[in-house]
Amino acid sequence: MGMLTGWRHCPLCASALEQREGRVRCAECGFALYAHSVPAVAAYVVDDDRQVLLARRAREPDAGLWDAPGGFVEEGEDALEALHRELLEETGLTVEPGAFVGTFVDTYGDGPDAISVLNLVWEAAIVAGDPVASDDVSELGWFPPDALPPDTDLAFRWLARSLRAWAGTT
Ligand SMILES: [Zn+2]
Repeated sequence: MGMLTGWRHCPLCASALEQREGRVRCAECGFALYAHSVPAVAAYVVDDDRQVLLARRAREPDAGLWDAPGGFVEEGEDALEALHRELLEETGLTVEPGAFVGTFVDTYGDGPDAISVLNLVWEAAIVAGDPVASDDVSELGWFPPDALPPDTDLAFRWLARSLRAWAGTT
C-alpha cells in the first residue's frame, strides 16, 4: 500500500520511473514526486446538549457506517474553507469551528489503491441551517457522548478512538 506503489512509468513522458524510498523520479525528463498523506477535514458538530452529529456514508469505502461529516481538502484550499464547504455539502449546515480536536493518520480504501490520509478534526457549532443529509451522506443522526454507535458501526479506524477519547468514554 502506498501512493506510489506500482508506479512504473513517468506520467509526463512515459519513460521508466526510478522508485526510491517513498519517491519516484524520471531520469529522462526530471519529473519527481514524493509520496504523501492526503489532507482531509472533519467536524464533531455538537448541539446545546453536547450531542454529536454523525453522518452515515452513502458510498464506498465503508458505505453504511457512521462517519464524522467532512472530506478531502482541495488543491490550494485552506483547511477551514474545506471544513465549511464539506459541512454545507453533506449536512446543509453553516458551522463555526471551535476547539481543535487533533490530527489522525489513517488509510482510505483497501488494497493497492488505498491511500494514506491525514485527518484534521475540529469541534463545531451550528450557526445556520437545519441538518439535511446530502452528497455522500444517506442519513444524519445526533448521538449523546455516552451512547455513541459501537465501533463496528463507525467508519475507518481513526474515528472510533478519536471520537471516544474526545467524548471521554474510552
Ligand atoms: Zn519523464
